[in-house]
Amino acid sequence: MALKTREDYIKSLKAMRPNVYKFGKLISDVTTDPATRRTVESHARAFDAAYDPKYAEIATTVSSFTGEKIHRFTSLMESLEDIMYNSKFKRMMYHLTGTCTGGTCVGWNALNVMWNVTYEMDKEYGTNYQERLKKWILYAQENGLVVAGALTDAKGDRSLRASQQPDLDSNLRIKEIRDDGIVIRGCKAMICGVAASNEIFLLPGSAYREEDKDFAVACVVPRDIEGLTIVETRRPSDERELENNFDIPETGISQAYLIFEDVFIPNDRVFMCKEFKYTGKIIQYFTANYRACIGACVAGQGDVMIGAAALIARANGLAAGTFMNKIIEMAINNETTYGLGIGAMAAGKKHPAGAWVSDPLLAHTNKVLVATLPYETKRLCQDIGGGIVETGCFPSYKDFMSPEYGHLVQKYVKAGARYSAETRARAARLIEWLTIGAGVPGCMHGGGSPDGAKLVVRANIPLEEFAEYARKLAGITEEMPEPEKKK
Ligand SMILES: Cc1cc2nc3c(=O)[nH]c(=O)nc-3n(C[C@H](O)[C@H](O)[C@H](O)COP(=O)(O)OP(=O)(O)OC[C@H]3O[C@@H](n4cnc5c(N)ncnc54)[C@H](O)[C@@H]3O)c2cc1C
Repeated sequence: MALKTREDYIKSLKAMRPNVYKFGKLISDVTTDPATRRTVESHARAFDAAYDPKYAEIATTVSSFTGEKIHRFTSLMESLEDIMYNSKFKRMMYHLTGTCTGGTCVGWNALNVMWNVTYEMDKEYGTNYQERLKKWILYAQENGLVVAGALTDAKGDRSLRASQQPDLDSNLRIKEIRDDGIVIRGCKAMICGVAASNEIFLLPGSAYREEDKDFAVACVVPRDIEGLTIVETRRPSDERELENNFDIPETGISQAYLIFEDVFIPNDRVFMCKEFKYTGKIIQYFTANYRACIGACVAGQGDVMIGAAALIARANGLAAGTFMNKIIEMAINNETTYGLGIGAMAAGKKHPAGAWVSDPLLAHTNKVLVATLPYETKRLCQDIGGGIVETGCFPSYKDFMSPEYGHLVQKYVKAGARYSAETRARAARLIEWLTIGAGVPGCMHGGGSPDGAKLVVRANIPLEEFAEYARKLAGITEEMPEPEKKK
């Protein structure tokens, strides 16, 4: 059966070889360790959703290969409707977890992008990459695999190309090609949801030229593959995540460094091996879809911020309606990124291979808004909540519960007769987590830096055409070309 339960998922993670480190120690069980169990809990909620009548339509679909019911995050997105469900899924996951579940997201996009790119490569080079990929997708669908996606390399010196780096391992590279597979080494950094994932889809982090062809690699690996060391990086400003109390929610997000030391990947899991010409296509298709859909992530978290703002207002003794103008602004920010993402999808088209590709100009424009508007939404949420939500101006759970003075802390945290001190504390902590804490997703650089997105927007501005419209409307009869550049 292709639909898995939360229990199946947790069991699959428990069966893996421990290779995730955090706070200086090897985590023996990611599902129970306080440093990783919250991100696992977040991802597990995608499995719960598949069985919940309220969410099942979003969380599941039917395999285009087998006709069987599958988890949506393993599907090929072949129509506008399919890709719109990607956005609906992300917004839903934020409603259920408050934060990012990268293992249900980046690998999903990667498999769709590679479906199109392997088709193009096979056509040009006579390779059989798409057949290999299909075999793996069927396996992923059958097993309901949670798959992180890794493009970002450690990079090294940002002004140098991969092949010019003093340390070639700064970017993941092919060290050796054997008859039965390839050996890779190097590092992918800041990868979302790895501790909660069964597998990791590896894609090139950049568009490469011939001299960089060793870095042109796409493949998929089990998270616990021999030779891979994972260092989880996400942590709040203190060690609250190790506690079990209202100082931090039950859900969470994680990022990781993936350190590959001569890792062997069998051929049937390799989907690009030095075809550098197609690395640009991967980046192009990946960012078009990802930056369209990411608008739904921040909208989903923004929805939770609106809800949390309403709760803290009430816990403070006020009506949420007191702040309706601010709440409206928050909602407009949410719908702007969500709607522009949907627009990018609607303006996109189906690739001849079958998977949908969103419109790049609208998607990259959305990325710039995703790197701006959520910060405004967070500001408004903090504005509504008061100092208690903003800077950790609120005692810890341990102080709140102290047998000596806890009753006094609670007496003064309570704001009015209607709600308990704990209710106000919980609402405040959630807002702190959503706005400046460990729940903040990668609005700025997640999915790529806004400056990179702006380059695409710039390349798509038909400046001369627009100048011509304006010249004619203004009745200017002279030609007005750009001045010659001064030498
Ligand atoms: C929360 C979060 C989750 C993430 N999840 C994932 C994930 O799941 N998978 C994944 O693959 N990646 C992930 N990333 C990584 C993300 O894609 C990168 O952070 C992003 O692409 C930017 O790369 P960088 O951090 O190395 O920034 P840098 O490359 O160091 O960029 C820093 C700044 O310098 C600018 N810059 C860089 N190079 C140049 C240059 N040559 N000339 C001029 N300006 C330059 C950039 O535009 C930016 O403004 C995540 C990041 C975050 C923050």
